[in-house]
Amino acid sequence: MNIAIIGTGYVGLVSGVCFATQGHTITCVDVDTKKIQRINKGISPIYEEGLEPLLQKHKNKIHATTSYDEAIQKSDITFICVGTPSKKNGEIDLTYVTQAVKEIARCIQNKKSYHAVIVKSTVVPSTTQKIILPLLEQTSGLTAGKDFGVGMNPEFLKEGVAIQDFLNPDRIVNGYYDEHTRKLLKELYKGFTCPIIETSVTTAEMIKYASNCFLATKISFMNEIGNFCKQLNIDAYDVAEGMGTDKRIGRAFLNSGIGWGGSCFPKDTQALRAWAHKEHQSAAIIDSTIHTNEIQPLKAITLLKKHIPNLKGKTIGILGLAFKPNTDDIRDSRSLVIIKELLKEKASIKTFDPQAMPHVKNIYPDITYCNTAEEVLNSDAVIIATLWDEFNSLSYKGKTVIDGRRMHKAQQEAAIYEGVCW
Ligand code: NAD
Repeated sequence: MNIAIIGTGYVGLVSGVCFATQGHTITCVDVDTKKIQRINKGISPIYEEGLEPLLQKHKNKIHATTSYDEAIQKSDITFICVGTPSKKNGEIDLTYVTQAVKEIARCIQNKKSYHAVIVKSTVVPSTTQKIILPLLEQTSGLTAGKDFGVGMNPEFLKEGVAIQDFLNPDRIVNGYYDEHTRKLLKELYKGFTCPIIETSVTTAEMIKYASNCFLATKISFMNEIGNFCKQLNIDAYDVAEGMGTDKRIGRAFLNSGIGWGGSCFPKDTQALRAWAHKEHQSAAIIDSTIHTNEIQPLKAITLLKKHIPNLKGKTIGILGLAFKPNTDDIRDSRSLVIIKELLKEKASIKTFDPQAMPHVKNIYPDITYCNTAEEVLNSDAVIIATLWDEFNSLSYKGKTVIDGRRMHKAQQEAAIYEGVCW
C-alpha cells in the first residue's frame, strides 16, 4: 500500500518506519523542514531505540516532504499523526489537526481513486465524527463514505520501546466510518497476529482514553498505597508483588515512585476530565488520579528536607530528566517539577541525563548540566528521578540519596537512603 503519514513525531515516524518494514511505501509530511531533511538523510529527528537503523534499512521505501499534494496524490490512505497538546483548561488543542485536515481535504478533492483518512492522533471521543469528518466534507465538497473514507486507529505505543510495541501490539483498534475504510485497515494490518477490534470511530477514541486513564489511575492508586507503606515502614514493592500475582490485578503498572509524566498520561487524563466537566459529568476518579500525581514528586523534596532542612545554597544532584528511561522526551517529566521546587528553595542544581539535557536547557538554562552521571554525585544529596540503566553502575557509597524510582544499588550502598514509597 502507499501510505501518507502527516506529522513525523514519535507516533508518525515510528508508524511510517514500521509500515515500511511490512512492505508498504511511505511518504511522511511535516511542517518542520529540518525534520524532513534529517529523515531523507536517514537520520532520526527523535531518539527512539532502534528507529534510526530501521529508517536507514528501509530508506528506499520512506520519503519525507513538506508537500501534502505530493504525499496524498500517490497514496491510498493518509494517517493523521500530528500533536494534540493540552490547552490551559486541559482540553486538547486541535489546531494542528484542523490544519492538517484542511490540507488533506484540499488534496483529496482532485483524487480519482478512493482515499481513506485515518486519525491516529489521540482525540477525545466524538472528535472524528463531529469535527474532523464535517471539516473534510466542507473543505473538499465531497461526501464521506461515498467519495472518501474515514477511520480512527488509536496508537498505543510506549516511547522507549515504540518499535517493539508497534510491531507486536496487544491489540489493534480499527475504528471505521465506512465499509471501504474497514477493509483497507483490515488489509493494512493483515500481517499482525494480535486481536483486531473493529468498531465505530467514537468507540475507538474512547478505547484509547479509557486505557490511558486506567493505567494512570493504577499508578496513582499504587502511589497512594506507597505513601501509606512509607508511613508504616513497609515496602510498597513487596505489596505490589503480593497484589500483582492476583490475575484480576496483574503486576504491571504497580511500581510506585514519584509519579507519571510524558506526552500521553498527563494530557489524556486532563482532556477526558475537561470533556466530562463540560458535559456536566462527574470525573471524581480521574480528578483524584491527577491530584495524586501532582503531589507525588513533592514527596522527594519532603524526604530531602528531613535530612537537609534548609536547602538554600545546598547543591542537589538530579539523576535523570527524561520522563522515563530510553527516551529524550521531557514532556511533563517529574524531574521538571522537582527542579522548580528546588529552585524555589534556592538550592543549586546539578544534573545529568544521557538524552534529555538539550531539551531541559531550553527551560532551565542556568542550572548545571554535567558531562557524566558521576559528576552529579558530587553534591550534598542526590535525587534519582529517571531509572536509566547507566545509573546502576555508579557508586553511591557515602552519599545521601532520595530515590524516586527504586534503584537497588543505591539502596544497598548509600550512607543515607530514602525511597519515596519504601
Ligand atoms: P510530536 O509532537 O512528537 O509530533 C507531531 C509532529 O507533527 C511534529 O513533528 C510536528 O512538526 C508535526 N506537525 C504539526 N502540525 C503539522 C501539520 N499541520 N502538518 C504536518 N505536520 C505537522 O507528537 P507525538 O508524540 O508523535 O504525538 C502525536 C499524537 O499521537 C498525539 O495526539 C499523541 O497524543 C498521540 N500519541 C502519542 C504517543 C507517544 O508516546 N508519543 C503514543 C500514543 C499516541
